[in-house]
Amino acid sequence: MKKHTIPTGFLFKDNYSRGELETLSIGDYGKKWNVKADFLGYRSDLNGVPNTNCMPLSEKWVITVSTQYGCLSKCNFCDVPNVKYSGNASFDDLYSQLKKAISLFPECKYTERLNLHYARMGEPSWNPAVLEFTNFLFNERKRFQDETGLSVEVLHPVLTSMSPKKHKKWEGVIYDWVNIKNKNLGQCGLQISINSTDDKQREVMFGGDANTLEDISKMLSGLPAPLSRKYCLNFAYSTDYIIDAEKVAKLFDPKKWMCKITPIHNNTACMENGIKTVGGYESFHPYRKPEQDLKNVGFDVLVFVPSMDEEDGLVTCGNVILGGSKLKESLGPQKIEGL
Ligand code: SF4
Repeated sequence: MKKHTIPTGFLFKDNYSRGELETLSIGDYGKKWNVKADFLGYRSDLNGVPNTNCMPLSEKWVITVSTQYGCLSKCNFCDVPNVKYSGNASFDDLYSQLKKAISLFPECKYTERLNLHYARMGEPSWNPAVLEFTNFLFNERKRFQDETGLSVEVLHPVLTSMSPKKHKKWEGVIYDWVNIKNKNLGQCGLQISINSTDDKQREVMFGGDANTLEDISKMLSGLPAPLSRKYCLNFAYSTDYIIDAEKVAKLFDPKKWMCKITPIHNNTACMENGIKTVGGYESFHPYRKPEQDLKNVGFDVLVFVPSMDEEDGLVTCGNVILGGSKLKESLGPQKIEGL
């Protein structure tokens, strides 16, 4: 294993059944530091997020696993397409990444909440092992605890998808995922990457590989009411992206869907393609209008801004050192309470 210590935990790569995969095992600051979400009571503007300590892992642990070796999609804000594609991670590859991520903090035997993100490398909807593995985690809790030494109070897996056009079974995968969510007290996140409501911008950013918003809306209009958290429309926001809130509300029911806005991240692909959120790390200004517009049409809106420690530690989406993202040489020490 090649392991990098980053301020919020570890970033590591290792060899699995088809080659190298990259994984994160990190802490979380807690919403009061990096989230504005009026509907949850976090009402302060985020004018920069301090490089503070993460909560103890016994309160919240975030593990992000790769679901594919590279990715079939060609999103222009992501470094993963630089990695040669060689197929899906197997069930064992997923489990192995999770076990290794847990083993990096051997002193932690219990966590109140484990967020498992299917997000580092790959478009998870292509990989049937993602659903199989998630079912395993929910159904075989005792075996998981015996095999990892970690007792988990609340498991919260999150599937994030950009809705690849070529995937003829995509709709079925999402309905199956929602079925798992609703069978497990709603404890599964579903995020659909929207980013812009402009067809041309979406065509460019997703390399012509994403379904249109109209098609996504049609395919997902029959989703049942979500248990617990609403389904999430994700806006990784560059200052140049258009967000037409009226269009979003026409296509997605605010009773079932919420919106999340984050800055686009400063990885190699974004720098090469001139994609950025001007001022988005220091000031709330870029988010104010899209947040207000989406709230005005009835959505719950959550704005998430990472700290510079998180940005420099490459924990944000679209980064992958296997694809050319670069860690700074002088990263600060690990800052997790209780370690
Ligand atoms: S953003 Fe996701 S789907 Fe797009 S290229 Fe990167 S890993 Fe693949």
